[in-house]
Parts: sequence; C-alpha cells; structure tokens
Amino acid sequence: MAVLQAADKRSLESLFRTRVSFDRMERTLYGHDIAEIPSLIKPLVGSTVPDAVVQPASEEELVALVRWAQENRIALTPRGRASSGYGGVLPVKGGLVVDFLHLSKLLEIDTKTQTARVQPGICWEKLDRELAKKDLTLRLYPSSYPAATVGGWLAQGGAGFGSYESGWFRDNVVSARAVLANGTVREFSGSDLDLVSEAEGTTGLISEVTVKVMPKERLGVISIGCPDAYDLQRLVERIVKDGLPIWSLSFINPRMAEMKNRAPLRMHAGHAVGERVLLPASYVMTLAFREKDRQRIDDVLPNLFKTCQAELLSDKVAHHEWDNRFEMMVVKRLGPSLVPAEVVIPLSSLGDMMAEVERKVSQPVVKEGLVIREGAGGNPEVVILGFIPSDQRKFSYNFIFPLSLTIMKIAERNGGKPYATGLYFAGKASQILGRERLGRLKAFKARVDPGNILNPGKVMQGGLMASALSLGAAIEPLIRPIGNHVISKIGERPTQSVRDIPADVAWYAYTCSQCGYCVAECDQFYGRGWESQSPRGKWYWLREYMAGRQQWDQQMVDTFLVCTTCEMCDTRCSTNLPIEPSWMKLRGMLINEEQRMTFPPFEMMAAALKSEGNIWAGYRKDRMDWYPADLKAAHPPGGKAKNVYFAGCTASYVEHDIGQASVRLLDKAGVDFVHLGKEENCCGTPMLVAGRWDLFAEIMKRNIELVKQAGADTVIASCPACDMMWRQCYPEWAKKLGIDYPIKARHYSEILAEQIEAGKFRFPKLEKPVTVTWHDSCHIGRASGVYEPPRDVIQAIPNVKLVEMSHNREQAHCCASVLTLIKEPPVAADIGKVKLDEALAAGAEKILSLCPCCQVQLRVTADKKGVPIEVQDLAHFAAAAFGYTFPDPNPEVRKQWAVFDAFIKLLTPQGFADLMGTMWPDLIDAMPLGMGRMMRLLGKVPGALRLMRPMFPVLFPRLLPLMLPKVLATMLRRVEEQIEMPKYMREQMPDLMPKVMDRLMPHMIGDMVPLITQPMIDYLRGKS
Ligand SMILES: Cc1cc2nc3c(=O)[nH]c(=O)nc-3n(C[C@H](O)[C@H](O)[C@H](O)COP(=O)(O)OP(=O)(O)OC[C@H]3O[C@@H](n4cnc5c(N)ncnc54)[C@H](O)[C@@H]3O)c2cc1C
Ligand code: SF4
Ligand code: SF4
Repeated sequence: MAVLQAADKRSLESLFRTRVSFDRMERTLYGHDIAEIPSLIKPLVGSTVPDAVVQPASEEELVALVRWAQENRIALTPRGRASSGYGGVLPVKGGLVVDFLHLSKLLEIDTKTQTARVQPGICWEKLDRELAKKDLTLRLYPSSYPAATVGGWLAQGGAGFGSYESGWFRDNVVSARAVLANGTVREFSGSDLDLVSEAEGTTGLISEVTVKVMPKERLGVISIGCPDAYDLQRLVERIVKDGLPIWSLSFINPRMAEMKNRAPLRMHAGHAVGERVLLPASYVMTLAFREKDRQRIDDVLPNLFKTCQAELLSDKVAHHEWDNRFEMMVVKRLGPSLVPAEVVIPLSSLGDMMAEVERKVSQPVVKEGLVIREGAGGNPEVVILGFIPSDQRKFSYNFIFPLSLTIMKIAERNGGKPYATGLYFAGKASQILGRERLGRLKAFKARVDPGNILNPGKVMQGGLMASALSLGAAIEPLIRPIGNHVISKIGERPTQSVRDIPADVAWYAYTCSQCGYCVAECDQFYGRGWESQSPRGKWYWLREYMAGRQQWDQQMVDTFLVCTTCEMCDTRCSTNLPIEPSWMKLRGMLINEEQRMTFPPFEMMAAALKSEGNIWAGYRKDRMDWYPADLKAAHPPGGKAKNVYFAGCTASYVEHDIGQASVRLLDKAGVDFVHLGKEENCCGTPMLVAGRWDLFAEIMKRNIELVKQAGADTVIASCPACDMMWRQCYPEWAKKLGIDYPIKARHYSEILAEQIEAGKFRFPKLEKPVTVTWHDSCHIGRASGVYEPPRDVIQAIPNVKLVEMSHNREQAHCCASVLTLIKEPPVAADIGKVKLDEALAAGAEKILSLCPCCQVQLRVTADKKGVPIEVQDLAHFAAAAFGYTFPDPNPEVRKQWAVFDAFIKLLTPQGFADLMGTMWPDLIDAMPLGMGRMMRLLGKVPGALRLMRPMFPVLFPRLLPLMLPKVLATMLRRVEEQIEMPKYMREQMPDLMPKVMDRLMPHMIGDMVPLITQPMIDYLRGKS
C-alpha cells in the first residue's frame, strides 16, 4: 500500500474540507477499538495509526473516495462507532480510516412493509427513537445499542437482544447498498448479503441498509435464577421445545452476578444514584416478551421449573436486569481491564461448556449469554461473552490474556466456534463463516478489489497476529497454567497518581471500556465531530499521556476545558464513570495547580470579578439597578430574613427581566425573602469551570458569609448555575475547606410548584393561547434534578400548551453556553441550533428557559442562524400572566454579546498580534536599553533583520513585559477604537487590561512571535 504524499493530502482536503484530519493526536484516537492487546503481542499488529481520517457525508463522496484510493493505492478502513473488539477497525496497512459519522440519517420508515432504510452510521438507539414515533421498534439490537451503528453490525455480524425470536442480524436485513473497490455501487439482498455481512468492509463500504422492524408493543420481563448451567440449559431447552412466545432470552453467570453486586453505583454530587439491587449467586436468566403473552408464560413456566431447580426472581431483579441491560461493562470498574472471550456454541453443550471452563480456568470468568432459538441449521445456539478481570498495566496481563484461547478451545470441543473474525481470528475464518461462504467471499473480493484497498489484513487475510493467536491456541495447554497461577485482585483500587493525573482519574481512564455510549450525545463532540472531543477520546488520550506517548499542550488543555459540563456523559456511561467530575478535577489541576492558561475571556471576567464582584465588568454600585422599587420595603436588599433571593450576575447586569420577574413571583407566592444587595457577588461558576479555583474559593466564602449575615438558611435562585453552586458545590467545598454551611438551596420553580400543588398559587388565564416548549438547562436538570417543577409552573398557566422536545429531561441536549460560547462562538451556534430546531420540530412558538446564560446563547444562536423562535425566560413568561411588564432583554443581550464577542477575538494570539500591528511606532520606542533605535537602524541595513529573526522567539518573551506598560495608553485607545464598549467598561479598562495581559502574555507569547515577526520587520523596513 502507498503512503500518503503531500499532493494526496491536498486532494483529500479539496474532497472533504473540514471533514479530514491529518493531526497526529487525532489519528491516534482512530487507531484502536475496544480491545486491549497485551504488550508482548501488540508489536505483531504493527502501527495502527492511520495517515488520515475522513468523514464522507454522502454515497457520492464514498464513490469519489474509493476511486481516489484505488488510483493512489491507499488502504481504506471503515469505522462505525468502533465498539467491536476484533480489530476490524484497525488500519493495519496505514491509509485512511473512513468514519461514517456524517452518514447517519434515517432515510425512510415504511410502516406497511415494516422496514426502515437508513444510512450506515445511524446508531441503534437513534433509529429506535425514530421508529417509536411511528409505533414501531427494532426486531433485535446489540447490547451496544446506545453506541453501535447499523452498518457496523451488518459488517461485523452478530446477535443481540431479540435474537431469541429474530435470529442473527443478517437475517433481518432486507438489502444493503455498498460502494465497491472499483467505485461502483451495488445493492445486495437475499443470499448475496453474505458478501457484505461479516465481511467487515473488506468487500465494500456499506452506504445504505434496509432493516426489518416490528410493531412496538409493551414488553414484560421476568428473571429466573438457576443454580447451575446444566439446569439453565434444561430450562432453556424446555422453553424452546414448548414454543414459549419469548422475544429475548439472556443470562449471566454467578460470577457476573457477584461482580455486578460489587460494582460501584453511578454517583452524583457525592451520592449514589439509584438503589443497589442485589442479585443471587446463581445463573440469572432474563426473559423479555410481549405483555400480551404474559398469561401463556405465567401458565407454562411453573411446570418447566419442575425439570430443574429454577426459581422465579423478584420483579425488582427482573426490571433491574432489563433496565441495565446495556451496562454490563460496569464490572470493568473492578478490573480495570477485562480479557474477553466470545464464542457461539450449540445450546445442547451449554452445561458441559460452562463446567469445563470452571474446571480449566482458575481465574474468575464473568459471563453473559444470549440464546438464539433458531440458529445455524435451525438449532438453538448460545452466544457467550466471557470476561476475565485483569489489569492491562501489569505484565501479568500477558499471561491472563491467553486464557481467552482456553475458553475458545473449550467452545470448539463442545461444537462451538469463535464469534467473529476481524483481524485476530482471520485464521479461523473457514470455521466461523463456513468453508463455502469463505470461498465465495474470497472470489468476490479477488474480482472487485484485486488491489486489496478495502480493509486489508482482515477476515480472509490472516496477518502475523492471526498466526500468533493460532499458534497460541495450539500451545494453549502449555501456557494455561501460567495464566491460572497469576493472582488477580478484583476491586476498585485507585491508589497511585500517574504523572500528574490524580489516582482516581487514572483508574477511570483504564476502566473506560471505550464502548462509545458517551460519544454521539456529547455536545462537545457533536459540535465538532472528532473523537478527541468526546469523553471516550479523552480517556484514551489520558492513557496515552500516562504511558508517556502524549504531552499536554494548549490544544489539549483547551480540549478538557471546553467541555460544557452538561453531565450528559455521566448518565450514559456503561461503566458508571464520573466523567464530568473527572474533567472538573483536571481543570483545577491544569489551571490552578499547574498554572496553565485558561480561556482568555475568563481572565477578563476574573479581573472584573475581583474588583467589582461580577463577570460582566459592571460596577458594584449598579448591581441593584434592576430591583423593583416597590418591593424594597417588603424585601429589603441587604435586609434579614430566612430566605435570600440570589440573582447572580447575568440577571443583575444583562437580562433584568429574569430577576424582576423572579422576585415578583416570589412576592406573589408570599415568600418572605431579602436580597443580599450590592454586596452580592458572582456565584463563582465561571471561575470554577475556568479552573481559577483560588478565586472561586474566595468568592464562595464571601457569599456564604453574606447569607449568614442576612440570618438566612435558604438561598432561592433563579439561575441554574447559582442554584448548583448553593445546592452542590458550596457544600462540597465548604466541607473541604472546613466552613460551616447551614444553608440549603431551592429553586423558585420548586417553591411555586409546591404552592400550585397545594392550591395556594393560581395563574390568571392568558388572553391568547400559546404553545411553548421547555429547555431543561443542564445545571438545573441533570445537575440538580429539577425537571418537573418548571413544567408544573408552565402547565398551571391556563391557555398555555406545553410540548416536549424529542430530547428532554435527563436526555435534554445542552445549549452550548459559556464554555463553548466563549471558546468557539461558531461551534456554539451549531450546537445551539440543534436545540432550537428540536423546539421548532416540537411545534413550539416559544422556547422557555430559566437560565440566563442559556437564554443569551439561544438568543445569539437564533439571531445568527435565523431560527424563527422566541426565547423567553420562564419567570418573565409566568409573571407576565399577572399583567407585569418587563424590559425586553434582547437589545441588551445583543449589545453586551457584541462586546464579549469582540473581546473573544481580541484575546487570542492573532487578536493581540493584530492589535500590535496597529501600534508599531509606540512598541519600537518602548523597547528598553535603546534597542528600539538599534532596530530602526537595522531596518535600514539589507538582510540584517533576517539574520536577527531566529533571536526573536528568545527576545520577545523578555522584552514584551517591559514594553507593554509603556504602551498601555495607546493600546487602550486602539482597543476602544476596535470595540464599542459601554462607558463603565471603558472606564475600567486601564485597571482590567494590564491584569489580563499579565496572566495571558506568558502563555500566548510563543504563539504570537511568529505572527508579529514579519509585520514588525515590514514596519522597520518601511514597507507598512
Ligand atoms: C458494551 C458492548 C456490548 C456489545 N454487545 C454486542 C452484542 O450484543 N452483539 C454483538 O454482535 N456485538 C456486540 N458488541 C460488539 C459491537 O458493538 C458490535 O459488533 C457492533 O455492531 C459494532 O458496531 P460499530 O458501529 O461500533 O462498528 P465498528 O466496530 O466500527 O465496525 C465493525 C466492523 O465493521 C466495519 N464497518 C463499520 N462500518 C462499516 C461500513 N459502513 N461499511 C463497511 N464496513 C463497516 C469495520 O471496519 C469493522 O470491521 C458489543 C460491544 C460493546 C462495547
Ligand atoms: S459533560 Fe457534556 S460536554 Fe462535557 S464531556 Fe460530558 S457530555 Fe461532553
Ligand atoms: S466513558 Fe463510559 S460511555 Fe464513554 S466510552 Fe468510556 S465506558 Fe463507554
């Protein structure tokens, strides 16, 4: 295969524009799947870092890509969500990884034929959500449903939930289109599907799939405990024989039950989420069936139990097992690694197979199984996925790994075979696929891809690794005792930090199963589309960093900082990892401890916050300007009461309607409250997420003290970030810092909802009916769990219709405020548009929100993207029902955002370089020790400045701190010329700007030098 040349890169750039990456770090993240190969045999695979990653967005682009690759003899390795573990997605011959991320549309649902036509990159969960809108559902899906793609499963082949009734996935496919290596597109159906199914992209890039679906019906679930595998086998055989109408039949072994019992629960804000449901130490079989068939099952099952010692388990266990069916990887928390072994065996060998594994493998093997009623040859089959907990960081992992070959050999002896081929088991292709089918596949490949550009080294072409595994299998009896004698610890044991990574985060990085559940719904990811921007990518990067193969640079620091803290990933993780809290910990480490650069606009906010207590650079004396004069007597700012209303910065300085409407509603609800007055400070959220923890702690202490002085024990917030601080972060930090914290937090919507429920609070009827939707801000929703109260308030207003967006409550998408907005405003608009489009699709005229920052972001997005929807504050909307009027916040938002936006652009290396370009005379004069004069002279000597050029990177970092104070006045004038600031900001700039420059320049100067060198030389030569 050829290696990518500069001209190839140019061609790819012109074909794919921003949808191609040559970045080394990014490419590394596209060079692996979920499997962790032991260090001793890893070299046999060779490098798996592709030369580039491309993301085609149409079948035409796939065709163009394949033709180009054919011409240039470049290997193409397709990749869905990379949730497989057989090495199929590894680019073992270099070339390009073809990521199907942008080929993920649902094309058509045909309710008559009960089929769905989709692009290959669509994930099962998304397809199922769309089907549900038409009362349809999937006939079967893999247990990687939240991540895996339709094309990936077809190419990989497999069985999953629903396979008991529906068989292997391939049998549920009507047809598939694929782009062949010669650049033609062919549709496969019937027996020809054998040419793409399980071919792992070696015969064609799948561009479209039509799958069979079924009516959506209510499912019932039952769990049954069986003391041993023979009993389990007997019971399943009876279920099959009696033709019980079961849709899905899965089971786990006692080891798995025990490990699940020990695995950590999902945590949130230091507390376990959900209840621990203990499983019995037995084989736990879970049946899913259509509720309408329950009676038949209830009637027959007790009789079947007589043939074995099975017992019906509680509904709680059944529902727990079913509800958590995608989270089997949670046991990885106790590893942190798992050695996998996956086999297919006839049901008739289940007991023997399990018994032999118990006899021959002394390491604990956790197993999960799926039964297929009509498998190969019409007989029932069982897919068994076994895992041996281990630690990939230890050398002993090399010895435990071969035990997977032991399990495979036991399966073979019992009439079974490995599950799939991929890279590792290509040597067993004839056994896995059947000799005849393999022959057909090979002949087809030879005909359409003689140059072998499509996924070379896989399925039918065994490489070194496949040979090594075949050899390993042959000498398995000799190596087995070594693996059996390794002493493995089981349990979460994050004891050691690695490089600068804290011990717990280091453990989680290895625990991450790389399953990909967290990828598609992470807004940082879907706003940008590259693996490095996903939680999965970051965990993998951390592993690489801890192994010494990656280093921190500003790009990577920014990657961790730009996470919006939406917490979506925490709800999706298959191993219950505290992902967002881990990134939060790294923010503190990177910025606070290691003093790296945070996002520059945060430094402006920090400077303003230090002097005036707010992030918008308003004066403290103006903080109460918004407060309704007529409420001052009843709710005096600076007064004393049990409740304090905490407005926060944005309501106080930008969106006055939020604060005004909130206090009106609280007053109307008869709440006795005061406000902290001008002494109120920013809640500190921006400093927390910026990693400026020194300042955060300072501001938090001041706020807690003020509330105590007010004699209050409750803080009522309108802003979700303020709420989150008082509800979760302050208590946690107060504990850490030994501060007494006798304060609880309530959101005003919770108070109103209670009063509405109690019949004490009523809204008058709106004159005109209106349809609204509710935006669950991340910090009031996932962070604080307040989902229903705002909805209760909306629904209590007569003449208002509430419609839900397709992602709501715990699944609601983030608006991309704050971190994305201040780092990459265009990306924020892309992410925000996803939300606004959902609101429009739901049929809403208005999108209601209670978060000031979400409202700024959604308003800015609606303006930028021209989305015709009104964004309104909930309190504003609700209080207006009583006839109150409030200022329109839009003009102020636009004005303040324009200033912010301009500062974001200014506070970058390019922004500063451009600014300096407007003041060279002053800068040169400001050079110390007469250097300015010398530079002017050198400018007149041909070639002198060119000779000096290499010294600039050394000189500038030393000179600039001495020059900047001297040119401050000019600089401020230039900034004022560029940015139309309000008067109060202009007045503060002489104080703020030097503080900001002091913090930023040491970090930025390196990037600025190349940008300012030539313009300065040009100026000195008199060219500009
Ligand atoms: C937690 C977990 C549970 C799982 N449960 C199951 C299960 O129940 N059943 C099961 O069978 N598997 C299961 N798997 C394995 C894996 O999820 C499935 O094989 C899945 O179908 C792979 O889909 P993917 O999109 O991730 O494909 P990838 O892993 O990206 O790709 C799989 C193979 O298909 C090729 N490929 C991908 N897209 C295309 C395309 N468009 N055209 C041509 N070739 C392509 C790739 O090159 C690769 O060889 C599980 C994995 C995990 C992590
Ligand atoms: S918190 Fe949100 S943005 Fe951050 S990694 Fe998780 S899902 Fe992505
Ligand atoms: S972070 Fe969790 S959800 Fe994401 S890849 Fe890792 S284990 Fe899977």
